[in-house]
Amino acid sequence: MDEIVIPFQSFKYHSDLYETDIINAVSDVIRSNQYVLGEETRNFENSYSNLTEVKYTVGVGSGLDALVIALKSLKIGPEDEVIVPSNTYIATWLAISAVGAKIVPVEPRESSSNINPELIEEKITRRTKAIIPVHLYGQCCEMEQIMSIAKKHELYVIEDNAQSQLAKYKNQYTGSFGDINATSFYPTKNLGAIGEAGAITTNNIELAKFATQYRNYGSEIKYHNNIKGVNSRIHEIQAAILNVKIKYLKKITTERISIAKKIHERLVGIEDLSLPEISNKEDNVFHIFNIKTSFRDELANYLLSKGIATSIHYPIPPHLQKAYKELGYKVGDFPIAEKLAKTSLSLPFFPGITNDEIFVLTSEIILFFKNLKKNK
Ligand SMILES: *Cc1c(COP(=O)(O)O)cnc(C)c1O
Repeated sequence: MDEIVIPFQSFKYHSDLYETDIINAVSDVIRSNQYVLGEETRNFENSYSNLTEVKYTVGVGSGLDALVIALKSLKIGPEDEVIVPSNTYIATWLAISAVGAKIVPVEPRESSSNINPELIEEKITRRTKAIIPVHLYGQCCEMEQIMSIAKKHELYVIEDNAQSQLAKYKNQYTGSFGDINATSFYPTKNLGAIGEAGAITTNNIELAKFATQYRNYGSEIKYHNNIKGVNSRIHEIQAAILNVKIKYLKKITTERISIAKKIHERLVGIEDLSLPEISNKEDNVFHIFNIKTSFRDELANYLLSKGIATSIHYPIPPHLQKAYKELGYKVGDFPIAEKLAKTSLSLPFFPGITNDEIFVLTSEIILFFKNLKKNK
């Protein structure tokens, strides 16, 4: 085993910033005797709404649950079709399966890895009910085009905002465009809990009411059940932790963007290496730093031999997963998603990564491509 000198992910920066506050917040919950849907949950829901400029936030058990509850709130079920990117984390597809609707995949743009709005309309049928754009890697989807297609065809929009908290498209936060939207506070997400958590965001009071009841056995008043719900309440302890961490989200987002600029500056101009675009538009909050090269596996192995860990988001697209065998897709059906799965590499990227680590990481990448050229 090679010794890892630069990890893919580290939470050390977080610990330094607010570990004591988190320990105190958790102790307060323990002493409060209020362990489910208490004050911490209400405060967090309000803070998240204020921060991301939406009217309602409903805290739930996970990002996947948030997606499922969003679909349920819109009464999407077995008769319906839902448009979803062919390139996404499988959770987006699983949510559609969970409500029994038909998955209709649409290819991404190779440049952004996000759903290509130009390919959506040809997939719309009489049964299409919704589009789920996924803001992957921290990068906003093209919401203007997507919202106008949805309006024209009277479709719902559900944003999967798990990876892009605080990203702004044309001065508006992601997670506030769709009818009802989902986000995740899985520990590695830009706003992460210390365990599982997720939320729904919406400006529609009826949808917010439905989701609030649905996550809580379908009840608003204890033992009065209006609908058949589930148990997917955000944990009070996670809400307390998120109440501490949310205060630092803007600072951490700025830090992420600044790290991305430093890596980008060092790597720009290398042949056969495609970098995420750096703009001043706040439309990318860099959940991960995704690069693309046809020498992906060689580069990952080389970096590992130097003690530098990387990751792949994602090595197998959903349509080729065993879980989706029943859909009958084969290699070649979604060539852009498949190409991204073969060429994408996520570099070590976390708040608190040092300038020295960035220098070592980028120097090794530069060296790898230099040697490659020599050996050609
Ligand atoms: C993480 C993630 C989810 C699921 O969130 P969980 O909290 O892990 O259930 C859904 N969609 C995307 C794009 C994600 O990255």
